[in-house]
Amino acid sequence: MKSHISIRTFSIVFVIFFTLIALVSIYKMQSQEKANISKIISSDLQSSILSLSFILKQNLKKDKDISEIKAKLDNFQYQKKIIKNIYISNQNNKIIYPHNKTNLLLPKNFCTDLNNLNTFNLLEKRGCKQKVVVYKGTKKINYEIYIITNHQDIKKLIYSPIYDFFYFFIPLFFILLLLVWFYLEKIIILPLEKLRQFAYYHLQEPKEFLIKELESIRYSLGVTFNRLENEQKELYKLSTKDTLSGLYNRLSLFDKLSQLIAKAKREKEEFAVLFMDLDNFKDINDYLGHDTGDDILKYISSILLKSVRENDFVSRIGGDEFVVVLPEFESNIKIAEIAQRIIENISKPIEKESEVLYVSASIGIVIYPKDGESVFELIKNADITMYKAKELGKNQFHFFTEELHKNIEQKINIQNAMKDALEKGFFELYYQPKVDIKKDKIVSCEALVRWNDPKKGVIAPDLFIPIAEENGFIIKLGEWVMKEGAKQIKKWHDTELNDLKVSLNVSAYQFYDPKFYDKVLQATKQIDISKFDLEITESAFLKDTNQNIKTIEQIKDIGISLSLDDFGTGFSSLSYLRQIPVDTLKIDKSFIDAYNEINGKSFIALIVNIGKTLGLNIVAEGVESKEQLDFLNEIGCSQVQGYYHSKPLPIKDFEKLYKKYNKI
Ligand code: C2E
Ligand code: CA
Ligand code: CA
Repeated sequence: MKSHISIRTFSIVFVIFFTLIALVSIYKMQSQEKANISKIISSDLQSSILSLSFILKQNLKKDKDISEIKAKLDNFQYQKKIIKNIYISNQNNKIIYPHNKTNLLLPKNFCTDLNNLNTFNLLEKRGCKQKVVVYKGTKKINYEIYIITNHQDIKKLIYSPIYDFFYFFIPLFFILLLLVWFYLEKIIILPLEKLRQFAYYHLQEPKEFLIKELESIRYSLGVTFNRLENEQKELYKLSTKDTLSGLYNRLSLFDKLSQLIAKAKREKEEFAVLFMDLDNFKDINDYLGHDTGDDILKYISSILLKSVRENDFVSRIGGDEFVVVLPEFESNIKIAEIAQRIIENISKPIEKESEVLYVSASIGIVIYPKDGESVFELIKNADITMYKAKELGKNQFHFFTEELHKNIEQKINIQNAMKDALEKGFFELYYQPKVDIKKDKIVSCEALVRWNDPKKGVIAPDLFIPIAEENGFIIKLGEWVMKEGAKQIKKWHDTELNDLKVSLNVSAYQFYDPKFYDKVLQATKQIDISKFDLEITESAFLKDTNQNIKTIEQIKDIGISLSLDDFGTGFSSLSYLRQIPVDTLKIDKSFIDAYNEINGKSFIALIVNIGKTLGLNIVAEGVESKEQLDFLNEIGCSQVQGYYHSKPLPIKDFEKLYKKYNKI
């Protein structure tokens, strides 16, 4: 990572640099000052020497003795502070002033070049000396003037302004530096730190800053955070609320239930979950369009909200499915009252433009923890209970019961045991004869699967086929049925039963298996294909119609015949009949059961007629009496299947019945 430097470090470096420059400048200034003062002092000394020379020249040439001018010289010396002593020597190098000290040795180390008197010379040399030539008449006498300087005073003169400057300037400089530093801290470093904290932690927005750029960043951050916050709120709303109804969505419901379970577990409480589904919503959508459907859903949502208390939780978890959670309730009666109130409010007629619509709802009720201990279990059981309410006639509520609980347990047990049962060979095919009425002979049979459980005995297909369809096991089971049926056809081929046609049931779910056709081919490889019939129901054509019709055509092409099972129960039978290339129509048992009801016979006759018009073979299912048989014969039905002739039988029993009935 790149190493970064902080503004503080940068400022320190900057200040040090600035200080150094300031110091160098000051030093330069001071040196200049020193030189100037030195120049003044040296000028002073020069003028002093000149004055002394003048005094000497003036006075000594008049033949005066030096002692006569001593007072003058003394006075001169006295006036000059920077002059400590003045010596004058004669040409014999004898000092004649201040008094005749003939044996006094002259001090050394004098500056002779007065023009070159700088600070160094002034402080390092003892002073300065100058030759003076005095003419007494024609006689030339050399004198030498020595000025011994007062170093102390010179130093004072040179340095005191510098010292004064430093005494004044250095504290001022540092005070200034500190002030600058504090100001920097206050207007840049601290605001930057505040901005950083604001950007990182998103705490309280800092107050306005002085620096324009920082202020603009602060303002922009504030605006951005506000926008983010609003967007976050919007997103949260979107993720927890259903956009159409404004109620909570599935995710929120699961969340709410998890929280309630945790709380209820801790505090040993109960709560109720009401699973509601509209009874006829699909029709509204289909006939009045989705816009009306949406309006109805919104309306129902508002009714739900009005029908419950404030702290109850209302959610929409799918198309027309709503879940209400009652976190607190006094008794089951109170829950029932609420459910009833919802149902009544919903079933009030809705005026929509010129139309009046009627909507009703079914509600399944579960209570935590007795009816389910996890979110999944509660919702699943509430859903099952809601279906129970629908089964019982819709527009009502139903509580989860022990019976429902048992059903669920049984379902789970079946689900778990099914795979094992196939591996262990617990499945078996029973055969039920189809009798040709005219010939009064068994010409065909339907193979019906049975599950022989060592502990529970024979389990009926009505119980396990729907479960197998739900969990996909039907694909494997269906394959086994086809193989087993084909095996039986092969076995019967070399016996008296070689004319017998065998029908096998195929679930609509098997058509969703892309390998279905291959599996049919595989199963029928070694048999007389004309003896192999498949019973299919209309539900196989509700989804993927074209693909499924294609598969059917492929199957037909290899010579397999098809029976349309449970005919008359589907709602679009006639239109499909023309598209599906079936050979046989099986009139559903429910029509034969209704034989004695008003219009019962005419319905059966109508179906037989349709079948005959289309040139199909017609089989009536569930024939239990002679009367039914005779009637069917009368109206031209070709075959019957039912308890009148026989229940579905195991192979051996079926073979016996076949031989006996067909008098072999
Ligand atoms: P389904 O295909 O409609 O089969 C006819 C059902 O009616 C059989 O019930 C049969 O025992 C019953 N039945 C026949 N005649 C009479 C009668 O006169 N009176 C009464 N009360 N019932 C009669 P089963 O064997 O219990 O099968 C029920 C359903 O399970 C079948 O209805 C079929 O949908 C399904 N099923 C049975 N075996 C298979 C199979 O191998 N594969 C698939 N996919 N479904 C099967
Ligand atoms: Ca059948
Ligand atoms: Ca049937």
